[in-house]
Amino acid sequence: MSAFISLNDISKTYRMRGGDVHALKSVSLDINEGEFVSVVGTSGSGKSTLLYVLGTLIETTGGSYELAGRKIDSMTDAQRSLMRCKDIGFVFQSFHLVPQMNIIKNVLMSARYVPGTSRRKLKKRAIELIERVGLGHRKRHRPIELSNGEMQRVAIARALLMEPNVVLADEPTGNLDEYNCNEIFDLLQSLNSDGTTIVMVTHDLELASKTPRQIRLKDGEIVNEAA
Ligand code: ADP
Ligand code: MG
Repeated sequence: MSAFISLNDISKTYRMRGGDVHALKSVSLDINEGEFVSVVGTSGSGKSTLLYVLGTLIETTGGSYELAGRKIDSMTDAQRSLMRCKDIGFVFQSFHLVPQMNIIKNVLMSARYVPGTSRRKLKKRAIELIERVGLGHRKRHRPIELSNGEMQRVAIARALLMEPNVVLADEPTGNLDEYNCNEIFDLLQSLNSDGTTIVMVTHDLELASKTPRQIRLKDGEIVNEAA
């Protein structure tokens, strides 16, 4: 059986007026269910591109990708976007919260794209998740009233709403001070011990050294791997 996440000879070229940018070159990578992997590399090495490929947010230029036994390349756009909402949780450096909406509504935001889910059940789950990330007392506040660390907790609660198999985090601690960085990392670790597969991009080598597996990218290629 193939791995939970299996990239085979993936390339991604951004076609630009000034010339092509080869952001990923022949990347092959297997990640098993339940792993916590960090992806490191200097700025421009292709980390975000790799994460967006994993999240099916962008199309590849070549190669094949299987997630949970499904061939991503042969799925329709509709199948892919449904899978993205149900099976993949995203966390970004800049939180991507909607300022006008309170915390509960932010956590519920992406659920509207998934048909056949009961609003009442989802809201109950949203509140449980907000409590789990330690913000039960803030659930009717808006993002502007929260600290950066708290905003990232909201983003993590939102990523978990649909009970994803995998959480993809792009520099989740990039806008946080050391204390909040550690808090968010602890939260990711606790999700991982509950069985969620996590892929975390970071340029913080000290943080990366705390995950069981690190992948290093350089100029769009995996150059070495410490397991
Ligand atoms: P990292 O996250 O490691 O900083 P990225 O994956 O963002 O790296 O970028 C890899 C390379 O691809 C860089 O040279 C970057 O400029 C280029 N790139 C990223 N996104 C785009 C895009 N949407 N269009 C064109 N080039 C891009
Ligand atoms: Mg990046």
